Amino acid sequence: MSPAKLVIALTKGRILDEVLPLLEQAGVTPQEDIRNSRKLLFDSNLPNVRLMVIRGSDVPTYVELGSADIGIAGKDMILEYGSQGFYEPLDLKLARCRLMTAAAVGARLDGPRLRVASKFVNIAKRFFAEQGRQVDIIKLNGALELAPLMGLADCIVDIVDTGKTLKAHGLESRDWIADVSTRVIVNRAAMKIKHAEVQALLQRLQQAVERQQVV
Ligand code: AMP
Repeated sequence: MSPAKLVIALTKGRILDEVLPLLEQAGVTPQEDIRNSRKLLFDSNLPNVRLMVIRGSDVPTYVELGSADIGIAGKDMILEYGSQGFYEPLDLKLARCRLMTAAAVGARLDGPRLRVASKFVNIAKRFFAEQGRQVDIIKLNGALELAPLMGLADCIVDIVDTGKTLKAHGLESRDWIADVSTRVIVNRAAMKIKHAEVQALLQRLQQAVERQQVV
């Protein structure tokens, strides 16, 4: 019997650059230069594996709905998507950072109703609800650091790595929300129906992650 076909949805950008070498170590290489192509769907060296390159925020959607069997995306995108509709069996330990709240250095955030700007509106809503705080969430798509500076918001929920971006804008991180790294997610039906192929790939990826940790 020929192996079941697998579609892997990859996140474009920074995550793709870090994931391609890991995939290669796991025995999957795109048939063409994936980083410098306008195409979105690629064959690989394995006849049964195809690769899609899409926005990280779309990876959970493709995997939950089964148009991709496997997805590779940041934990921030998975948390923001907010569904439990797929498995998350493997942490690739790449593109590590934290989701934090941040505000102007020394600013007091004890008013009755906070204005919170973020790209991660679902994460922000959940976090402040758990804190029992009343907030108005303002959706932005980038340059979140500007929001407190320009008086649009009291604080932001954003990705922090070194903290340099916050510092350069007179901001400081406040509350930790979650640790973020690149994760592998798997469609629930594919995990059963394509079990052998999915497990074999997960195992090879796991070994590649372990090798990478040792280096
Ligand atoms: P830093 O100045 O090192 O704290 O980096 C913060 C900025 O870099 C954030 O505003 C993000 O836009 C971006 N960034 C850093 N690490 C990541 C990551 N792992 N995934 C996505 N964006 C990141």
